[in-house]
Amino acid sequence: MTGKSTDQRFRTLLAKAGQAKDGEVGGVVPPLRLSTTYIRDHNYELPGERLYGRDDNPGFELVEALMCTLEGGADAALFSSGLAAMSAVLATIQGGDVIVYPETGYFGVLHWIEREAERVGFEARSYLPGDHQSLEAAIGEGPVRMVWLESPANPTWEVTSIKQAARLTHQAGGRLVVDATVLTPLVCRPIELGADIVMHSGTKYLNGHSDVVAGILIAAADDEDWRQIKGVRYRSGAILGPFEAWLLLRGMRTMALRVPAAADNALAIAEAMSAHAKIAQVLYPGLPDHPGHQTALEEWDEGAGFTAMLSVRVKGGAAAALKVATSTRLFLPATSLGGVESLIEHRKTVEGETSRVPEDLLRLSIGIEAVDDLIADLNAALDTI
Ligand code: PLP
Repeated sequence: MTGKSTDQRFRTLLAKAGQAKDGEVGGVVPPLRLSTTYIRDHNYELPGERLYGRDDNPGFELVEALMCTLEGGADAALFSSGLAAMSAVLATIQGGDVIVYPETGYFGVLHWIEREAERVGFEARSYLPGDHQSLEAAIGEGPVRMVWLESPANPTWEVTSIKQAARLTHQAGGRLVVDATVLTPLVCRPIELGADIVMHSGTKYLNGHSDVVAGILIAAADDEDWRQIKGVRYRSGAILGPFEAWLLLRGMRTMALRVPAAADNALAIAEAMSAHAKIAQVLYPGLPDHPGHQTALEEWDEGAGFTAMLSVRVKGGAAAALKVATSTRLFLPATSLGGVESLIEHRKTVEGETSRVPEDLLRLSIGIEAVDDLIADLNAALDTI
């Protein structure tokens, strides 16, 4: 797979940041526009239709337009973080509504759904990610307002079929929201498979350099539901700073190189760890024996790889896993994912007491370093147990 871009058109679009330039001075990159307000003309009209910096910034528009093109959406909204984007969706759920959400997934999202369900009085029914029957049972006869899907699901990387989930959700009268942070639009475009809203933590692969916190929603249709969600950003003021939006666009320029390179590394590491005597299990959708491999083959673009996230379960339980996590030299023991540098984390420690993650699990965010160096680093850390 090395070097093969999923889609050459995306590669060009990304490298040129959707043709964003500085027309005023002929610069090849867009300007950073910091103004918080816009001048009216002598008819007291707004010539550029932008009113105030809380919602209107040309830098946001560049990122949103590019993501709309990549995801095949009708509209997009940038937020101050992935969680702010997710909260905007959740803020439109009312008491008495039913939402269906995965039992495993990014813990910040799951906790927020559970807490909001109690506070607002909606019903939150969970399903096992990657298990079609479990999803079908949770949706039941309907009606449901929303199904939340994260694929592959943190930190065990189950793959739920977006196509099947969209069919079940729509039959029950609901909207399918997909957290596609780990996939990126290079690997999979959920709207093409029937999703109504796609969410990304822009903090991860979109930016790719571990120096911006951001989130984005992309909607399949610019309808009333979407306008409500977008309205939450306006009312809550959960916007990104203009400089962060500018940095995000800069990071996106290299996404078509970073994502497949990191995924190639991840596959080689998954294969090496599968053969390691001290590893009990490798969880990675790129391995043919992973339960989600077939769905990944059907719904993902293989050219960009099978994502760059994987987990390993270390023989010897929590103590052994923690020893490995503190013994690597290249893999940095830090949370988060999607940067060019590889990270290792003991997820249960990071999530805390209520975590459902197995105590022997280490989550690896694979970067773009030389893969032999990364494998040697893991082998050396495993030698310490
Ligand atoms: N979704 C996934 C899959 C994540 O991994 C994260 C953060 O780790 C989020 C959402 C939340 O994004 P943010 O940290 O940008 O708020």
